[in-house]
Amino acid sequence: MKIVRVGFDVPVDTLFDYRCDDAGAAEIGARVLAPLGPRNAVGVILDIADSSAVNLARIKPVTRILRETNGLSAEDIQLMRFAAGYYHYPLGAVVMNTLPAGLRRARATPVKSLQHYALTARGAALAVDSLPQRARAKRRMLALFQARAVVPYSVIAECTRTEKIVLKQLLIDRYVECCEGLLTSPSATDGGTAAAPVCPELTLDQATAVQALCADLSAFKPQLLLGITGSGKTEVYLRVMAEVLRRDRQVLLLVPEIALTPQLEATVRGRFPHLAVVTLHSGLNEGERLRHWLDAQSGAARIVLGTRLAVFAPMPHLGLIVVDEEHDASFKQSEGFRYSARDLAVVRARQRGVPIVLGSATPSLETWHNVATERYALARLPHRINNTPPQIHCINTRDARLQDGLAPSLLEAIGRRLAAREQALIFINRRGYAPVLMCHECGWLSACHRCSARLVLHLQDRRLHCHHCGYQAQVPLACPACGNADLSPVGQGTQRVETALAAHFPAARVLRIDRDSTRTKGAWQGMRARIEAREVDILVGTQILAKGHDFPNLSLVGVLNADSLLYSTDFRAPERLYAMLTQVSGRAGRGSVAGEVLIQTEFPDHPLYGALRDQNFAHFADTLLKERRAAGFPPYHYQALLRAEASTLEAAIQWLTGASEQAQNIADGVTVYDPVPASMMRLAGRERAQLLVQSASRNRLQRFLSQWRAMLADKRSSAVRWSLDIDPLEL
Ligand code: ADP
Ligand code: ZN
Ligand code: ZN
Repeated sequence: MKIVRVGFDVPVDTLFDYRCDDAGAAEIGARVLAPLGPRNAVGVILDIADSSAVNLARIKPVTRILRETNGLSAEDIQLMRFAAGYYHYPLGAVVMNTLPAGLRRARATPVKSLQHYALTARGAALAVDSLPQRARAKRRMLALFQARAVVPYSVIAECTRTEKIVLKQLLIDRYVECCEGLLTSPSATDGGTAAAPVCPELTLDQATAVQALCADLSAFKPQLLLGITGSGKTEVYLRVMAEVLRRDRQVLLLVPEIALTPQLEATVRGRFPHLAVVTLHSGLNEGERLRHWLDAQSGAARIVLGTRLAVFAPMPHLGLIVVDEEHDASFKQSEGFRYSARDLAVVRARQRGVPIVLGSATPSLETWHNVATERYALARLPHRINNTPPQIHCINTRDARLQDGLAPSLLEAIGRRLAAREQALIFINRRGYAPVLMCHECGWLSACHRCSARLVLHLQDRRLHCHHCGYQAQVPLACPACGNADLSPVGQGTQRVETALAAHFPAARVLRIDRDSTRTKGAWQGMRARIEAREVDILVGTQILAKGHDFPNLSLVGVLNADSLLYSTDFRAPERLYAMLTQVSGRAGRGSVAGEVLIQTEFPDHPLYGALRDQNFAHFADTLLKERRAAGFPPYHYQALLRAEASTLEAAIQWLTGASEQAQNIADGVTVYDPVPASMMRLAGRERAQLLVQSASRNRLQRFLSQWRAMLADKRSSAVRWSLDIDPLEL
């Protein structure tokens, strides 16, 4: 009897056994419909066996194998197995989570995958002139196929309805056939019709980097491309990609966020016009996501450009992985299956024996440590393309008289840029008008009753908002505690700075860019267009503005409120602040005008600002690494965090205390800390606590976690929800 072992999207670690006599080894990876409890569920066959540990009489047959789409390959499953093991998350849930929603249901929505169409010998022999004159669409299509021999789906997608109907006829008459898989070679598909893209001549730095990165494209080789902002990293990626694509392989390009940086997608498509490029990110609708996924799987898509989840995209001919802005925290999933796409990308490259390029101006210390220990090779782009890195200065705000949070010297600098018809960007990492409303009589502060957080004053709707749980309330007319009618907003948010700048520079066009102003679809695109068309003089915005944009006319960046992160208790705060400030500084002076960065601070002598002024990442990172080593923090130690939430803090702590006692018994070479309230203790009405464990040995920690997790799973409690976070970024 043949037994198939199936993984489902359920929160238990086991695979489920079913009878399936016609299953062979080829069915591993196939989707299957099978009875699970009272209903049928879709799962994936992950193993095939001749016997089962379950009583044979109780094993049910599968309902059916879903053969409409190809199953996962052994290589796909190998990566998922690793991820499930390393992140201690159920394999079935990992596998099902990586599938597009359309494949998690039995009846997959029919999709046109990125197949391509090829002219048959019959079609080649048919003379266009033998077709009737009035069959214009048919003549056009036949001529297209005879000119190009192979036509990718992307071209067909652009065709008119009539042309598509004609294509169907051509298929039925077998003048054209539908093929799946790799398009043969670029030259066969572009047929000389697409214009050759223009590539800039590489700078010497770039040429050296490309040469180093391309030295061996046939083996696993992790490499860091350390390039300051504006040094032309993208061009280097494109050249390495071109090399790999020339060898008929696929490229996976991972980026933190696509919606914010649509330029990259356009650049990639423009550079490889004859190759199919697909994107994979959360902004796609279900059908697009499925089609793109299937195109990656068939090999028809030669470039997959995606966010975190794309690290699992099936790619049979994978030849290169590029991770842009590898330090970005959004590569780490922060709930549920908490994986790091950056780390899994490295694992995947090793499993597949392909090179991987991690690029950043401010790499994570984990990656930098891997360079220092020579596990990763290093290529550098130390100069800007236009050769003028921005000048960074601090404005001491201790003795300055701020106007709505803005120092006079910053206002003067903005005025100078406006006079020169250049753009200025004011960066403040807080949206809303003011971070809190206060009563100066009794000290009352607007607070969220569901979270340990303040309610932020928003002026547009004149309401108080919780940025953590979404709770909103009306602005009280008087202090709820003492009745004082004079409540005042304290501190600055983007809306307040926007208002202040508009008042100070009445002739300037001020644009605020934050999550509130870009919420509607397409809003950000419209704003970008206005910035590029120079219809904006002053930009006020949050992190959204820091990421990878290229606004050539922007010459001044002002930073407000960076100090709030300077003395954080989180040991990663300096690393993050440095990266954030480098990113936002990097927006200044990318065109022909030299850039200037002014940071308002009460601590102009703080070493972090000194390091930033010197723009010497290596020096800064080495200093931080020394501190991390002395303190026993990552990357020298490996951490895992057990999180628990309950309706009371006591319940969460008590549950963790039990978990901690169990941990002590098996902690060999692993330090188990005491349970503590989470830094965000209350969130949306739930109380949260956590327990940190760490070890100098990754293997020991992993062995410990396997044992511990089995104990935790047995420790049932309906009142407590818990989860494990491996290599946590937020403590
Ligand atoms: P980074 O990602 O390192 O911040 P980009 O890749 O955005 O830098 O490049 C900065 C700018 O320089 C872009 O406008 C890009 O088109 C341009 N650029 C890159 N390489 C070259 C080159 N070799 N010659 C001319 N311009 C280049
Ligand atoms: Zn009061
Ligand atoms: Zn809240």
